[in-house]
Amino acid sequence: MHAVRSTMMSVPLSLNHLLDRAGRLFPQARIVSRLPDKSLRRHSYADFHRRTLALASALKAAGLRKGDRVATLCWNHHAHLECYFGIPAAGGVMHTLNLRLSADEIGWIAQHAEDRFLIVDDVLLPLYEQFRRHHAFERVIVFPFSGAAVATRAGDPHDGEPAIDDYEQLLARAPAGFEPLAHDEDDPVAMCYTSGTTGRPKGVVYSHRSTVLHTLMASLPDHWGLSARDTVLPVTPMFHANSWGIPYGAVMLGANLVFPGPHLHAHDLLDLIALEPPTLSLGVPTIWLTLIQAMQAEPGRWKLPAGMRSLVGGAAVPESLIRAFDAHGVTIQQGWGMTETSPVATVFYRKPELEPASEDTWFRLKATAGIVVPLVDLRIVGEDGPCPWDGTSVGEIQVRGPFITGQYHQTPPEPEKFSDDGWLRTGDVGTVDTHGYLRITDRSKDLIKSGGEWISSVDLENAIMGHPSVAEAAVIAIAHPKWGERPLACVVLRPGQRVEPQVIRDHLAGRFASWQIPDAIEFIDAVPRTSTGKFWKAKLRQDFAGWRWPD
Ligand code: ADP
Repeated sequence: MHAVRSTMMSVPLSLNHLLDRAGRLFPQARIVSRLPDKSLRRHSYADFHRRTLALASALKAAGLRKGDRVATLCWNHHAHLECYFGIPAAGGVMHTLNLRLSADEIGWIAQHAEDRFLIVDDVLLPLYEQFRRHHAFERVIVFPFSGAAVATRAGDPHDGEPAIDDYEQLLARAPAGFEPLAHDEDDPVAMCYTSGTTGRPKGVVYSHRSTVLHTLMASLPDHWGLSARDTVLPVTPMFHANSWGIPYGAVMLGANLVFPGPHLHAHDLLDLIALEPPTLSLGVPTIWLTLIQAMQAEPGRWKLPAGMRSLVGGAAVPESLIRAFDAHGVTIQQGWGMTETSPVATVFYRKPELEPASEDTWFRLKATAGIVVPLVDLRIVGEDGPCPWDGTSVGEIQVRGPFITGQYHQTPPEPEKFSDDGWLRTGDVGTVDTHGYLRITDRSKDLIKSGGEWISSVDLENAIMGHPSVAEAAVIAIAHPKWGERPLACVVLRPGQRVEPQVIRDHLAGRFASWQIPDAIEFIDAVPRTSTGKFWKAKLRQDFAGWRWPD
């Protein structure tokens, strides 16, 4: 008998295919970018396709070699999208720099990644000036986002100063007839550094293959349900885990895109939503909190597009937030993931077998992180090994799959990051119920251990934020002489509200065992934010380092 082998072609998965398809099939799809002066610039996908090939051609003509890193320091706009596809088409690796990090951190990251070129918004040049001494780029390409003229200069190998180009002039001069470079599907296309809340940031490198598989998975109907009929507003920065992969999905399917540029204040976002109504928007819960608060502060000023879906993740999404948007006809769909997971690893959707469930049950489930996505394996590992999916066993969430990183760029393997059998140890703690819904109870470093029992800071925060007088809440562990640790709730009240700590505690009574309820409640002006806009509990812990329990 002859052995049987697959007869299928072995064609490498490729971002170039997505780009080519967009140019051919969706030339009329729209890309709207908000400029620094708040005006809107419009492009078609035909423009995007032409300009992206011009960028790739220009990079190649400028000497880019296969595997060279091209950093971007940009807001969300059409040119950043061109980088997403143009840099890989030229054989380069796009490295998105997080413009909210300190100049020292950005410089360290650019140095570690050995970035050769930099594409930077002109409005971000002052930030570049602050970190340029840490890392010498060979060429700096300035995108005239504000419309001001760019001061270009030829490179001089003797003075060590980079060449400076104007992005638009570079595209205009690009040699015609460029063809995207051939590649293997495992070749790198992009890299992103983790935020480095524990130690130095670490680089995650995505491949053509991982990106295409993630894009296909994330666009499925039970996930983003993305289609050519959608208009997508990515508020999630394009430097934050590839804006969760939505730029790739939109280009693959020809969805319209609306980019907010640097204008992320709630009023600006609500104005933009009114001008260019999206059907799908994405962002972290803290930004969505500011939207709902702005609408509540000025009832009637803004209206959300009926039927808009919002993918909200990156941090726990309080049930009260989901309910508040639902009252405006907007569905919030929660997802969980991390830079290391490309990033979508779980997404909430309604499982049909639960359909008769009450509205309250659905809201409770919507406040979970959802269900593990296809192609990803997920397990919960407790102190005694893998836990059953029973909704009560809590342990570390571990994942593996073709778009999960198996190591970090130029970093020695660390046992606390990867298990012996090769799973990613996420550092998040949670439980999966019998239907497969994952509930994140904490990041392991945010857990509170009181009298030997764990208390979930996330559950407490979400419940406190459900109180009508509360705008924001973050709960941290404070060392306690008797109990080891006890929770301290840091609460931001809505404008004009005054409540006593006991009111918050009464609100929690009944939902939590008495030993889980924070004895200490501090009212603060705002919860500090991380570089990706999430609650920054490490900073809060620092701020309250000197806090003492009353004798
Ligand atoms: P960082 O938050 O450190 O900037 P990432 O963007 O990679 O970096 O964030 C990943 C982390 O965000 C996860 O490990 C998890 O702690 C948190 N996270 C993401 N989504 C959710 C969610 N839906 N619920 C709770 N935590 C989440």
